[in-house]
Order: sequence, then C-alpha cells, then structure tokens
Amino acid sequence: MTDPRLAHTRRTRPGGPRTWFDRVRATVFLVLVHAVPPVAFMLGTRPTDWLAFAIIYPTLAVATGVGLHRYFAHAAFATSRPVQFVMAWMACLTFVDPISFAGKHRLHHRFSDTDRDVHSPAAGFWFCWFGSLIDEGYAEEDLVGAAPDLTRFPELRWLHRNFVVPGVSLWALLFLTGGFTLFAVGYCLSVVIVLHQTSALNYFCHRWGYRRYDTPDGSRNNPLVAFVTFGEGWHNNHHRFPRAARAGVAWWELDPLHAVIRACAACGLVWDLVVAPRDDSAPRRLLSDLAAGRD
Ligand SMILES: [Zn+2]
Ligand SMILES: [Zn+2]
Repeated sequence: MTDPRLAHTRRTRPGGPRTWFDRVRATVFLVLVHAVPPVAFMLGTRPTDWLAFAIIYPTLAVATGVGLHRYFAHAAFATSRPVQFVMAWMACLTFVDPISFAGKHRLHHRFSDTDRDVHSPAAGFWFCWFGSLIDEGYAEEDLVGAAPDLTRFPELRWLHRNFVVPGVSLWALLFLTGGFTLFAVGYCLSVVIVLHQTSALNYFCHRWGYRRYDTPDGSRNNPLVAFVTFGEGWHNNHHRFPRAARAGVAWWELDPLHAVIRACAACGLVWDLVVAPRDDSAPRRLLSDLAAGRD
C-alpha cells in the first residue's frame, strides 16, 4: 500500500528537481574534497595529519553507518535527545543532515531498483556513484516529507537548514591548529573515502553478491563491500530487515558497526536495539515501518 505522504512523489528520470544552487553547492563540495588531498601529498604531509585522519575517518564512518543510516533512517535503536543531537552534529560533518539523508534513504528502500529509486545502478554508473550525490531527482519537500519523525525536533530542523555549520567548524578548527595539510588529510581524505564507500555500497550491493532473501528489489550481500563499509555490505539482509540494528545474519557476516552499537548500549548511551527475528516469514512489518519513520 502506498504511503499517502509519499504518494505525490513522481520522477521520470534520474536527477532534475534539485535547484541550481543545490547542484552547484554539492558539485563544488565534491570537487573540493577530491582535489585537496593530492595537493597536500605534493606539498608533503606530517605525522599529525595522519593522526587526525586516524581519528576523523573512523568517526565519520561510524557517524554515517550508525548515525545516519541505522539510527536516523531506520530507528534501529533508541537513545536520548542529547546523544541524538551529538550523532546528528557528527553526521553533518560529511555535509548531509539527518532529515535529508533519512528522507532520501527511505525513498531508496521504498522504490529500490525502480525508475523512482534515488540511486539505482540501473540508472547507470555515473548517476548511482556521483550524480545522486548532486541531484537524486527529488525535491526538498519530498525528502523532508519522508522523515516526519525527525522534523518534529527543532534542533534537527536547524541542522537541516544549517547543515554546513558542523563541517565548516571542523574545517576552521583543523586550519587553525594544523594548517592546510591537516585539513586536507584529516578532513578531505576522510570524507572522500566515506563518500566512495557509500557509493560502492549503493552500486555493487544492488548488482553483485548473493541473495539470502527473496526481496522485491535487487539487493545483494557483498562480502568485499561489507568489509570496507564495516558491515553495511550485508545489504540483502538489510533490505529484508531494514530496522535491524545488525546487518549480518550468519555468524561469519561480521558487522563492526553493530559492535559499536552494542558497545554504546553497554555504556547506557543507546537502548532498545531492534533484532531481526530468526523466522524469515514473521517480520514483514519491519519493511513497511520504514517509510513511515518510527511513528
Ligand atoms: Zn539498497
Ligand atoms: Zn537502509
């Protein structure tokens, strides 16, 4: 059954409804983060630059996988409002806010591998890998409309309007403390790797890999992508049980991001982790919960 909040969304080709300002801003950001690290390599880097990378890269990977994807898009666990805000702030460091990401990603699950998908490989490599980062083909109100559970928080709405603030604050901090190469290696290189990990997931995990579940989309479990994305590559499992806090199902489907969530739960920071039932026939509701958010 079509969710009435999404029923008005229409798209006939990849890309389109984003404004020129949005497209130019996203393009400049992508070009910048790709162009800056090679310049730093030519100038010469210092050990402190790589120390910053060793801290910022895993932070951004967790902020994206645990924060944006499993928490904000799928409500795979519960947490307090302060922790939610910290996760939202960290997530914005990659210049995407929780409301936009959750809205876009829920449209992906709802329309996976159809002509309304936000990043289907069927629309071509370029659109899936890069184009959807610039213009996924949906207007602002479509993305926001798919995340009604998040727009009720004023602080998340503020971050939605001002999603550049956390990233620019980090830029300033890195420039002031370590100059250009700290910014280039610590921030830009980290973001580039996280962006390509996400695009690899969106592309390969809907093309190559094995299918444990007969889902209506083309999702696949891809062990190589799972390895480089810390467990996100068990994507067919994820499409079957989108709200589950753990993407791996078999014991050998290692899921380091789930280990991070478990560690946070052990510290009392998060709770009520959603567990996928062992009985495959039971939890169809977990699929339909998705587009409606957690309300
Ligand atoms: Zn998918
Ligand atoms: Zn998902």
